[in-house]
Amino acid sequence: MSRIILLAAIGFAVYYIYKKLAAKKLAAQQASNESGRAQVMLKCAQCDVHVPKQEAISSGSLHFCSESHKNLYLKDHHS
Ligand SMILES: [Zn+2]
Repeated sequence: MSRIILLAAIGFAVYYIYKKLAAKKLAAQQASNESGRAQVMLKCAQCDVHVPKQEAISSGSLHFCSESHKNLYLKDHHS
């Protein structure tokens, strides 16, 4: 009889740990979604359009929405 109680206790412990780990994993996923949504926006120096940081083309302290705007800006401000 005590063996059954022990098995039940082990089963409950495993279930409890599993549930806790699953909740932790879910929280981590939600946290990463949160940071993915709050993205940094950078302003294109050529056309003033805001673009996400990971899509922006950077040149020194300046940022551009596209490679062509970077070239255009550098051409305009070079001479
Ligand atoms: Zn632009």
